[in-house]
Amino acid sequence: MQSVTAMDSMRLDGNAAAGLLSEVFARDATAARATCMQCGATDSVGALHLYAHEMGAVLRCPSCEAVVLRLARTKTDVWLDATGARCLVIRLS
Ligand SMILES: [Zn+2]
Repeated sequence: MQSVTAMDSMRLDGNAAAGLLSEVFARDATAARATCMQCGATDSVGALHLYAHEMGAVLRCPSCEAVVLRLARTKTDVWLDATGARCLVIRLS
């Protein structure tokens, strides 16, 4: 385990992750694979069950129907709640 001092020496602000984050958010997210936090099933985002409404969308696991992703759109922002996903895997090529 690294000491707090060693970890502090590696710490940058979030702006330093801009390049890596652009690889995540500039892709077709429906091809990403999402692992359900509830049951552990892994499916492409495009295979999740979509429940859309005026404010956004809820994407549910096709195996257990737990909410995996929530999207909401306002006039100025798009909100993404991925707390129902254990992880999202986005293929680079
Ligand atoms: Zn599930």
